[in-house]
Amino acid sequence: MRTKMAVTIGPASADPEKIKKFIELGVSAFRINFSHGDVEEWKNYVDLIQDACRKYDRYVALIGDLPGPSIRLGELKDKIRLEKDDVVKIIHGDRSEEADEKVLPIPLELFFKNISVRDILLMDDGRIQLVIQEVGKNEATAKALTSAEIGSRKAVVIKNKEIGLPTLSSRDLEALKFSVENDFDYIGLSYVRNIGDVEILRSTLVSLGSREIGVISKIETVSAFNNLEEITDSSDALLVARGDLGMHFGLEQVPRLQELIVEKCLGKGKPVIVATQLLGSMVENPVPTRSEIVDILSAARDGVDTLMLTGETAAGKYPLEAVEWLKKIIETYDSTITPRKIKLTRDADVRDRFAEGITMLAESLRASIAIYTKTGRVALRISRNRPNVNIYACSGSIKTIRRISILWGVKPVKVDAQEYFEGLEEMLSTLRSSGEVKNGDVVILTYGLKDEPMHLVKIIQVR
Ligand code: ATP
Ligand code: MG
Ligand code: MG
Repeated sequence: MRTKMAVTIGPASADPEKIKKFIELGVSAFRINFSHGDVEEWKNYVDLIQDACRKYDRYVALIGDLPGPSIRLGELKDKIRLEKDDVVKIIHGDRSEEADEKVLPIPLELFFKNISVRDILLMDDGRIQLVIQEVGKNEATAKALTSAEIGSRKAVVIKNKEIGLPTLSSRDLEALKFSVENDFDYIGLSYVRNIGDVEILRSTLVSLGSREIGVISKIETVSAFNNLEEITDSSDALLVARGDLGMHFGLEQVPRLQELIVEKCLGKGKPVIVATQLLGSMVENPVPTRSEIVDILSAARDGVDTLMLTGETAAGKYPLEAVEWLKKIIETYDSTITPRKIKLTRDADVRDRFAEGITMLAESLRASIAIYTKTGRVALRISRNRPNVNIYACSGSIKTIRRISILWGVKPVKVDAQEYFEGLEEMLSTLRSSGEVKNGDVVILTYGLKDEPMHLVKIIQVR
C-alpha cells in the first residue's frame, strides 16, 4: 500500500488485541489526541502501542495532537441532549455540576468578551449549531439550531470569528512535556495561525530538550489557510483537519481546500495527512457508505501520504472494521493510481533534482529504488516524486525509521549498519529472504546527494 494509514487511539481501541490487529493490518502511525483524557490515560496508550511494536518487531510513528488555541467546553457531568430550539445556558467555568441541567461550561473569559447576539456556535465538526441569544458578564444563553448530543471538551467555533489566544496553554505544555518524555515522533499543532505559532512550538520543544520531534501543522482555520505558504515552509508536515475546516469555511468548501493544501505540500516536498470523517458513518455502522469510499479514493488519487482515522477508531463502535475497510479501499485502487507528478522549478535545489533524476531512471528501468537514509530527508525527496516503482528506505536509526513511516510509498527497513552501502546490502538480503525482491529484479541503490567529490549510484540486477 503506497497510501499510508494512521489511527487515533481512544477508549474504543485501547486494548492489546486491537492494537495488535491495527499493526497487522499495516497501520503506520498512531495518534493520541491530548484534548481528551489525562497523562495517565495517554501513558497507557503509549505503553500499549510500544508493547505491540516490540512484540511484532514493527516501527510506527507516534503522533501527539495538542489541543492548541481553541475554545473548548469544560467537563460535563453527563452528555447533554438538545432538541432543536432548546435553550442552553453557557457559564464561565471548568465543569457543570448537575447531570441533566442544560448548562455548558466554558473555562475561558475571553469567550464571553468576544461573542455577540446572533453569533453562531459550531461544535462536533459542524453537526451541532447554536445561536447566541443573550450575552451577560461571563454568561450567555444560546438556542439550538439542530438537535444535538454534546460531550465534554468539545471544541467550539464562533462562526467567522477567531479569538487571539496564546499558542500554547498550560495543558498544551503538559502534553508537550509528556510527548518529549515518551519519545513521540511528531506533534500535531492544532489551530496554527501563522509561522509564529510554529516557531513557538519549536522553541518550546528545544527548551524541553528535544530537537528531533517533527511538527505537523494542522490546517483548520481561515488564518492558517491564508498563511499556508509560510506555515508549509516552516513545518515538517501538514494535516488537513477537515472537521474544523468545515466549521470555519463551510462544509462545501472542504474538498477544494483539501486539494489546494495537498497540492501545496507536494509542490514544496512536505508530507501531507488527511484526517476526519474518512469513514465517519462507521462510528455507528460496520460498513461504510459509498460516498466515503469515493472520498478515500479521491484523496489517494491526489497523492496524499497518510489517511488518518479519528473518531472511528477512538470512540466508534467498529474500530477494527474501520481500519479493515480503509485498507481494503486503498488496496483495491493502489496499483492503478498514479498521482500527478509535480514539475520542479528551474532553480530547484540540486538534491531535489537528484531525487527526481533517480525517480526517472528507476521508472525507465522498471527498477525498485533502495535508499539509505540517516535523517530521512532523501526518503522524503524521493517519495515526493511519487515514483511508480517500489521505494525501500533503510536506516540504522529507529527514530528515522519511525518518522519516514508516514511517507507515501516508502517501505522503511531497519538495519544495523550505520553506513550507506553496508546498510543497503543488509536491506537487500532482508528483502530477498522475505521474497519481496526476486531474481531478475533491477534495484537502484543510493543515498542522499551530498557535497562530496563522488556520489555512487549502483544499479544491480538481483541473481
Ligand atoms: P479535535 O477537536 O482536537 O479534533 P475531536 O474532539 O474532534 O478533537 P477526534 O480526535 O477527532 O477528537 O476524535 C473524535 C472523537 O473521539 C472525540 O470527539 C472524542 O469524543 C473521541 N475521543 C478521541 N480521543 C479520545 C480520548 N483519548 N478519550 C476519550 N474520547 C476520545
Ligand atoms: Mg482538532
Ligand atoms: Mg476531530
